[in-house]
Amino acid sequence: MPDFLSAELLALREQCSKLATDTLQALRDDASLAPDERASSVRKASQAMGVYGLTQSQDTAALTLLVARETLAAHGVGHLPGLFGADAGILHAVPEPLASTHLAPMLAGDKRAGFAFTEPADAPRPTWARIDGDELVVSGRKSYVTGGVHAHFLTALVDVEGQGPSMVIIDTDRPGVSIERRFASLDGSHHAAFRFDEVRVPRHHAIGKPGDGRGRALAKISSVRRTVAADCVGTAQWVMSVVTEALQRERRNGPLGQHDRVRLRFGEMRILTYAARSAVYRTARLADSGQDAVNESIAAKVFASETVNTLVDMAVQLVGGEALVEGHPLEAAIRRVRASRLVEGDTDTLQVNLSRGFLDLGKGRL
Ligand SMILES: Cc1cc2nc3c(=O)[nH]c(=O)nc-3n(C[C@H](O)[C@H](O)[C@H](O)COP(=O)(O)OP(=O)(O)OC[C@H]3O[C@@H](n4cnc5c(N)ncnc54)[C@H](O)[C@@H]3O)c2cc1C
Repeated sequence: MPDFLSAELLALREQCSKLATDTLQALRDDASLAPDERASSVRKASQAMGVYGLTQSQDTAALTLLVARETLAAHGVGHLPGLFGADAGILHAVPEPLASTHLAPMLAGDKRAGFAFTEPADAPRPTWARIDGDELVVSGRKSYVTGGVHAHFLTALVDVEGQGPSMVIIDTDRPGVSIERRFASLDGSHHAAFRFDEVRVPRHHAIGKPGDGRGRALAKISSVRRTVAADCVGTAQWVMSVVTEALQRERRNGPLGQHDRVRLRFGEMRILTYAARSAVYRTARLADSGQDAVNESIAAKVFASETVNTLVDMAVQLVGGEALVEGHPLEAAIRRVRASRLVEGDTDTLQVNLSRGFLDLGKGRL
């Protein structure tokens, strides 16, 4: 049993494979479906198989989430909207009234949330708030909020006067909240840039202890980075299956895979995939053991995302020009994987953080 998985996790892997092959691949390929219709059908299928709710329980182990996400991505469907339920994220364990007004409706799918962290490079200062009685008065800008156009509220990093960075819930229908720009990225996901002009929010919308916003965001971000890594190693396997099929296909002078130079490249791809999977699995087990896995989650995310991008590029090279024809699986893969090197922290920043973690704070393992 190469991944040393329990019988329960092997069953989950089977279940996710079945979900992918029985239903999701057909939904992915059905061009007649509108995006909302597809997402709704994906959600129903995922709920019926007990996969949808995995992300909603605080008790789901990192390894369980990895097995589910990796398997779905390995079947080329891990990116479909509607697969997993919204997780509590930063709102985990918020007290009343936020538990009823924001967390519960978000988990039920009645309210959508956006994560507002990234700011425009030319902003004169980070998004900030002054305190006015029972209210925070927020001003500033956020440049890249995925799903922001449809978000009912944002969880935003805000520098609160006298307290420091805090995660603050900002309802998007508040006076003073405006969308400066709506845009789509290469992978097909949709985003919004927000502006806050003296937006008044109740003071209890600041989550957690005053000033611990960055720490709170970073605590959550480790699990999100492991999510990205799981998608990347699943996609890596999917890329390998596309390439394997191409190398074995009969051609006039025999299959491509018979050439030593092609085998050299293919071997390199297999080694990279093996190394990335090993790193991601080790990190999930570390996280589940309750040990600090912040630096390892960074390492796993960086390595898996860089690896899958390298693999897609190598795959295109081996398959040839056909791989770049619109509609070819690898053409779609190029668009999908590129963002992984930027989301939840770009590679260079994360590498610098990793060095700081070890050299200045003595954290991290090899
Ligand atoms: C598809 C997609 C979805 C996203 N969704 C969200 C979202 O929902 N919410 C959100 O808040 N953000 C989101 N982002 C934004 C993403 O987190 C940022 O793009 C990323 O953190 C890089 O920040 P930046 O784009 O502002 O680039 P910059 O910070 O301007 O950095 C540009 C480059 O400069 C270098 N660099 C910058 N700082 C450092 C440093 N300290 N050390 C070393 N090198 C450095 C790196 O090479 C970096 O790639 C999303 C991005 C993408 C592509």
